[in-house]
Amino acid sequence: MNEKLELLYEGKAKKIYSTAEEDKIIIYYKDDLTAFNGVKKSSIQNKGKLNNEISEILFKVLENHGIKTHFIRKINNREQLCQKLTIFKLEVIVRNVIAGSMAKNLGIPEGTIPPNVIYELCYKNDEYKDPLINEHHAVALNLATYKELDYIMNVALKINDILKIILDKESIRLVDFKIEFGKNELGEILLADEISPDTCRLWDKQTNERLDKDCFRRDLGSVEEAYLKILKRIK
Ligand code: UDP
Repeated sequence: MNEKLELLYEGKAKKIYSTAEEDKIIIYYKDDLTAFNGVKKSSIQNKGKLNNEISEILFKVLENHGIKTHFIRKINNREQLCQKLTIFKLEVIVRNVIAGSMAKNLGIPEGTIPPNVIYELCYKNDEYKDPLINEHHAVALNLATYKELDYIMNVALKINDILKIILDKESIRLVDFKIEFGKNELGEILLADEISPDTCRLWDKQTNERLDKDCFRRDLGSVEEAYLKILKRIK
């Protein structure tokens, strides 16, 4: 039996609890949704359940393709048992289609397909609004070593290749996504956090309908319906 003991951390969308086993945590998926660095806030019915299930499915797909992740098993509709990691203070972003901050900051129309895949690092720091950095900044800030960054980039690009193909089969365009990595006691680097419509841009392949958090950021319609469409397609 794995039970929640102490609340270790409460984030915007999840709570992290300790368990009786030192090297394991329980992640609880909340219904809360925030955007623009916490300025816009809401609670979306069933969002936590949907993201718990979507993330479980995608982590299992990745594991089946040889990606090492923190995911151990789903406990119930809101909770997962995961390995306890020391998280790199990095947001790793991969983009296949230009959208969001890249479209805005560089004046490129959203939806433009670049000739290359774009890999970005951001410093995970709310106070400084998660600024875009490069690998030299990351090393200077002591966030990771060059060797670790190299490994993380290779795994992130492999994750992109895997997810792009499986989502495309369900008529979903993987526009971009954010992932996080952490290190366990053995020094292994594993994929951590979640992969869900909160952390990806997912567009319907035919209509470009937004099936992700942009529904909330930009008031484009029901968040629950959009996330449910993703779950139904990938299930
Ligand atoms: N993203 C995220 N958490 C963040 C910032 C970005 O999950 O704190 C995701 C976002 O949902 C999108 C991708 O990373 O899928 C790229 O986000 P972008 O840099 O365009 O920022 P945004 O305009 O979404 O703030």
